[in-house]
Amino acid sequence: SKGLGGKQAQYYSKRFHKQVESRIRIENDLKTAIEKDQFILYYQPQVDAETFDIVGVEALIRWEHPELGLIPPDDFIPIAEESDYINELGRWVLHKACEQFGQWMKYPNVEKMTFTIAVNLSARQLKDTGLVKYLLECIERYQIPPEKLELELTESSLESSLVALAMLKSLSDLGVKLALDDFGTGYSSLSHLNKYPFNILKIDKSFVQHIESEEEASLLKAISSFAHSLNYETVAEGVETELQRDICCRLGVKRLQGYLFSRPIPPEDLERNWIK
Ligand code: C2E
Ligand code: CA
Ligand code: CA
Ligand code: CA
Repeated sequence: SKGLGGKQAQYYSKRFHKQVESRIRIENDLKTAIEKDQFILYYQPQVDAETFDIVGVEALIRWEHPELGLIPPDDFIPIAEESDYINELGRWVLHKACEQFGQWMKYPNVEKMTFTIAVNLSARQLKDTGLVKYLLECIERYQIPPEKLELELTESSLESSLVALAMLKSLSDLGVKLALDDFGTGYSSLSHLNKYPFNILKIDKSFVQHIESEEEASLLKAISSFAHSLNYETVAEGVETELQRDICCRLGVKRLQGYLFSRPIPPEDLERNWIK
C-alpha cells in the first residue's frame, strides 16, 4: 500500500527532523500551498462490523511538499490552527471531499444509501461564520445527500462557547451527521454530551490498537457500552488485528476503521480496490 507508514514517510521524517527551521518553513509555505495545489486528500475505508463491506470513508489530508515530501497532518494542521488559515484550509477540504464524493456517487456501491464520507473539522472552524453557507453550496453543487456527509469534531470544539453550540446546531440542521472524534480521550464535557447534536461517537484508537487479549479490552467495553446506552452510533478506529476486530464486533460497534482493513490511500487506489 502507499499509506503514510511506508518508506516515503520514514524518509520524510528523517530528513524533516534534521531541519531546524522546518517549523518556520512549514508556516511560510502553508500560506501558498492551496494556490500551488499541494494538498491531497487520502481516504481510509470504514467497514460494516457485520459484513466487512465498505460503508464509508474518512478523508485525511496530506501535503505534497515539493522539497520536504509527503507531510502528515499532525505536522501542519496544528500550525494552521494557530491562525485563521485553518478556515481556508478547512474549506478546501470540505470542497474537495464533496467534489470527490460527487464523482464516486456514479458507482452503485457509493450511491447506495449507506455509503458515507467523513471530514475532519477543527474547533476553530466553528467560529468561521460563513461555514454553513459554504458547506450548503458544496452540497448543492455536487448534489451530495447531506445525511451521507459526516463532520468529525473533537471534544476541544465543545469547550469553548455558545457560538460553537449554535454552529453545531446549524450544521446539524443542514442534515449532515456530526461525529465526536477521539471519543474517550477527554472527559471535560461528557456530562453535557446530550446538549450537542452528535449522532456518532468515534471511539479513539488508543482504546483499540493496543489490545492483545480479551482482558485488555475492559476500557473499550466500558466506553462502547456507555455510547450504546446513550443511543449513539459507534465507529472504532485503529483496528489493526483480527482480535481487535472481533472484540469490537462482539461489543456491537457498528463500523470499523483501521490498518487491518486499509491504510488511508489516494483516491485512485480507493476507487480501484474498494468501490469499482
Ligand atoms: P484522526 O481524525 O483521529 O484520524 C485518525 C488517524 O489515525 C489518521 O492519521 C489515520 O491514518 C490513523 N489511523 C487509522 N487507522 C489506524 C490504525 O489502525 N492504526 C494507527 N496507528 N493509526 C491509524 P492521520 O491521517 O495522520 O491524521 C492525523 C490527524 O490529523 C487526524 O486524526 C486529524 O485530527 C487530523 N486531520 C487529518 N486530516 C484533517 C483535515 O482534513 N482537517 C483537520 N482539521 N484535521 C485533519
Ligand atoms: Ca477523524
Ligand atoms: Ca480519531
Ligand atoms: Ca486525533
